[in-house]
Amino acid sequence: MFISLPEALRHRCESTCLYARSLKPDRFEFAYPTRASAAVGHILSLLKLSPTAATATELDKLGHLFVCCKCAPRVRIKDSKPLASFEVFTWREAVLHYYKDCIADLRSDIIDPQFTRASPLDPNLQGDDSPAAHKNIWSCLHCAIHLHSWVNRHEVIAHVKSAHPIADPAEYVDFFADPLAGERPASQWRLCLPQGTEPPPALRGLVVAMNQPVKPAAPADPKQQFRCKLCSSWSTRRFILVGVQSHIRDVHNVPPQSQRANEHFVEA
Ligand SMILES: [Zn+2]
Ligand SMILES: [Zn+2]
Ligand SMILES: [Zn+2]
Ligand SMILES: [Zn+2]
Repeated sequence: MFISLPEALRHRCESTCLYARSLKPDRFEFAYPTRASAAVGHILSLLKLSPTAATATELDKLGHLFVCCKCAPRVRIKDSKPLASFEVFTWREAVLHYYKDCIADLRSDIIDPQFTRASPLDPNLQGDDSPAAHKNIWSCLHCAIHLHSWVNRHEVIAHVKSAHPIADPAEYVDFFADPLAGERPASQWRLCLPQGTEPPPALRGLVVAMNQPVKPAAPADPKQQFRCKLCSSWSTRRFILVGVQSHIRDVHNVPPQSQRANEHFVEA
């Protein structure tokens, strides 16, 4: 468990941050509570819930799923066709993802969480069947029975259902994987979109970018306007191509040779 909702919302970047900064001059440590509370705030606004009234338990019960709109999908090949495979998060996993794994924003040190909801009924939603599910790194969160003999994921779910009894056990709430095992993927679900499937609108840009990695460069229109994707989506600044590239270099510290269309900037 990393941070409770009330903690995340109460946090005002004071003593803890100064303390963290003096102990560890690691900007991710320092940025943690701010990033986490920004992600919580964003998720509550997606769900149209009040930041002052919503509780962590309530969010757990709602069981909504989220996909990060900043992170490019992994490409998987299935039946010799490419799939865009997105990680799908519970709200807790989404907050943790935004804190420590959301590469685009971490790299550029900005805080602008963007998630979209995934439906639990989406036929493209697939359970994670990674090797970690079969390893004995899992334990119950309601009792200490496994702490000296960890079990696999299937066993811990069966235990929670029969011993506590909880009909639909959830990771982080009812059971967890040993964080020191370091093998747990960040989420238990993936959204796998076969090529040609219409992605959710918020993910369209990421899928298009994946499907056209070697699009021959069209002759550049010198008047084409671009906007920086690393700045907040509310930013109204527009640039020509060289302008957006030097902005990203100067403001976000990404050298031009590492910048990618759709990841760092988009046509305005
Ligand atoms: Zn803080
Ligand atoms: Zn992300
Ligand atoms: Zn138990
Ligand atoms: Zn920017």
